[in-house]
Parts: sequence; C-alpha cells; structure tokens
Amino acid sequence: MSGNVLVTGGAGYIGSHACKALRNAGYTPVTYDSLITGWREAVKFGPFEQGDLMDRTRLDEVFATYQPVAVMHFAALSQVGEAMSQPGKYWRGNVCASLNLIEATIAAGVKDFVFSSTCATYGDHDGVVLDERTTQLPLNAYGASKRAIEDMLKDFGASDGLNSVIFRYFNVAGADPDSEVGEFHQPETHLVPLILDAIDGKRLALTIHGIDYPTEDGTCIRDYVHVMDLVDAHVQGLNWLRNGNGPTTGGVDVFCLGTGDGFSVREVVAAAGSVTNLSVPMEDGPRRAGDAVKLVSGSRKAREELGWTPERSTMPQMILDAWRWHQNGGYGR
Ligand code: UDP
Repeated sequence: MSGNVLVTGGAGYIGSHACKALRNAGYTPVTYDSLITGWREAVKFGPFEQGDLMDRTRLDEVFATYQPVAVMHFAALSQVGEAMSQPGKYWRGNVCASLNLIEATIAAGVKDFVFSSTCATYGDHDGVVLDERTTQLPLNAYGASKRAIEDMLKDFGASDGLNSVIFRYFNVAGADPDSEVGEFHQPETHLVPLILDAIDGKRLALTIHGIDYPTEDGTCIRDYVHVMDLVDAHVQGLNWLRNGNGPTTGGVDVFCLGTGDGFSVREVVAAAGSVTNLSVPMEDGPRRAGDAVKLVSGSRKAREELGWTPERSTMPQMILDAWRWHQNGGYGR
C-alpha cells in the first residue's frame, strides 16, 4: 500500500522505528514532532514538519499539505514517575493534545487512525495475564491519560466514523538492527538503556526500584517486546484498517502487544550481563511510585487477527540490538 501517513512523535523512539517500517512497506511517513523529547536526527525516512499538537493551525496546514491517508499517533509524555508528580502535564500534554489531533484528523477527512496506548492503562490485577478484555484501572496519570484517549477515540468513532486501531503495548526494548535509529531519551528512565549506561560507565550503577514486591526475586515483572516487532504490528494494523477489516462503521479495535513472557528486573539485568559479557553495577532502591507489580500480556488477538508474529522479541536479541545501538549511536552527541 502507499500514501502519506502522518506520524506524530516520529522523531521519538518508537515513532522513528515506525517511520522506517512504513517506508519499507511502501508508505511515506510524514513526521510531526515538537522535538521537545524527539530528535531531528531520528527523522530519516520521510519529510519532517516541526509542530506542537496543541497548535491546531499548524496541524491543519500539515494535513492540507500532505493529504495523509491515515494517522499514527505516538507523540506522548510517557514517564510514570513524572506522571505521579506532575499529573496536569500528562492530562494536558496527552489528553488535550490528542483531542486537538483527533479533531484535526476528522476535519481533514482522514478516517484511519492508529493509536499507541499502553499496558499502564491496566494497573495491578494480581498477576493475571492481561488481554483486551481486562478492566483498565490505571495507577498513574500516564495510564489514565492514555485510557482517556482510548475513550475519546470510541466517541469520535461513533460520532464521526473515525476507525481506530488501538495498540496497548507492554515494555518496548531493542533497536533497529541496522542502528539507523534507536532508543535515546534525555533524561533516560527506561530499564534497558539504563542497564547499558551502567555497564559502560555512563552512570555509576543501576538502581533497582523496589526489591520487596510479591514476586519470586522481589522485583517487578514486565513483558518486553522488540521495537521492530512492535512497529511491524502497527503497519499490519494500518493495512488491516485500510483493507476495510477494521471497525468500518466507525469505532475502535484494541490489540495487546507483548510476548506473554514475564521478566523480573533482576532477570533483565542478568540477561544484559550475559549478552554483553560485562558486569552490571547495581544497587537496591525503594519502590518507584505508580509501578504495578506484574504486567504480562496475552497477544493472541493480534496474532490471530492481524497475523502478527514477533520475530526478534527474545530478551537476548533485544539486549543485543540495544547494545549495538548503544555503542554506535545516540543523537545529539
Ligand atoms: N526500573 C528499575 N530501575 C530503573 C528503571 C526501571 O528498577 O532505573 C524498573 C521499573 O521499576 C519497572 C521496570 O524496571 O519495574 C521497567 O521500567 P521502565 O521505566 O523501563 O518501564 P515502565 O514499566 O515504567 O513502562
């Protein structure tokens, strides 16, 4: 398939990988990004338009210039710790900004919308495997803001015929195996890049956020999915919508994206040590507010309905690809 796809947050970690996957699938990804957290150097696979989602005039201009066939919406604030201390930033930056984008999308006559949601919308469910039907009880303003955007998409589906695929993803790791793009946040808060920083001395030690959780080794459990597999699902979801398989009368369809395997923080640290053959300096720390004990997904629906097959989502492969990028790459340095 072909055509322009407006990618918000295309200069960020997942968005930049999605742009590569879209380009490889025949689309032209048009990145719309404020560069507040994204990187200009990450925009390599299509045109770049700098802008804020709160700027409706700028959004309308970009829709008019490129006439996109669909929107993929990644731009978001996504740090749990920050969401706990500054919830207003999350409600404004995620919910208000997305409302603006959704209204601009509808005004431009675009019908297909792919949205990046999260397992943080679930909260704690006593370790059960989470799927599309699990009740969403977010523990922090990040998860709550993403759930609110999901609700908005349902409402605009009913009122305006907007068709949305919502991906609730679990923990994303790894990097483009060609190291053209990768994960680079400033400040960094995510586990895998922080482990790699500790390994190569960019930070003194990794702090383990909580060692008294009710899990086997006392640390939180997450389901890690390779960023390349994740963005493949987005392209499959987009094609699925455009082929008319989606909620054609307007509405949403939700897919969880994970592997179904849970890894504790200590297990990820051990895997990084063994893949790199280097030691990981670490220290035990207190729990981080807003963290769920265990988030593991069933992604049967994505596999069955979209034909999604994660190919690189083993822990050693994710760490290897992230490590290669870590050694070669980074932006702005
Ligand atoms: N974590 C940790 N130390 C860190 C960063 C993260 O122990 O310096 C833990 C965090 O508490 C969570 C897991 O690693 O249990 C994954 O956290 P991350 O921030 O990467 O993703 P999140 O689960 O918040 O989306």
